[in-house]
Amino acid sequence: MFISISQDNQVKHVVPSTAKVMSLQALKRYTTQDRISKASDMSIIGFRVTKSANGGKAATAFVQSQNDPSKKYVVFIAGADANEDISSQKSVFVTCNCDDYKYRFEYPNTLNGASAIINSNGEPTFNRNPTFRPGLCKHLVAFAEYLVRNSV
Ligand SMILES: [Zn+2]
Repeated sequence: MFISISQDNQVKHVVPSTAKVMSLQALKRYTTQDRISKASDMSIIGFRVTKSANGGKAATAFVQSQNDPSKKYVVFIAGADANEDISSQKSVFVTCNCDDYKYRFEYPNTLNGASAIINSNGEPTFNRNPTFRPGLCKHLVAFAEYLVRNSV
């Protein structure tokens, strides 16, 4: 269960814990076609394989737009398993620090066990994603495709 505490120490949102898990493929299936198309403009920089907090295989990188190199975001994708390729694991954890992810997907993905409240304030995405549809921003699509291509 995730509990968000506001600055005045009031509990604002309690996200019920769910038994759901999502793979990278499942998250991509929910993702809109425009984000998948825009991912082809992205470059992966500084790719590193790491470990997640619970010991699973993880990967991180910067994702930069080829059209606008001034924008660079940090992506992180982890699997529950330490040895299996992240791209073929049943349960993954994803995050990106761009606004699209922060305001549209961080909350829904957290509800689905595939993220955590890191960059947003944890408020439900009633305005920008009212159906709480999980998904990936274009940076995470690009990084997910990179992991598949390189069998990470
Ligand atoms: Zn992003």
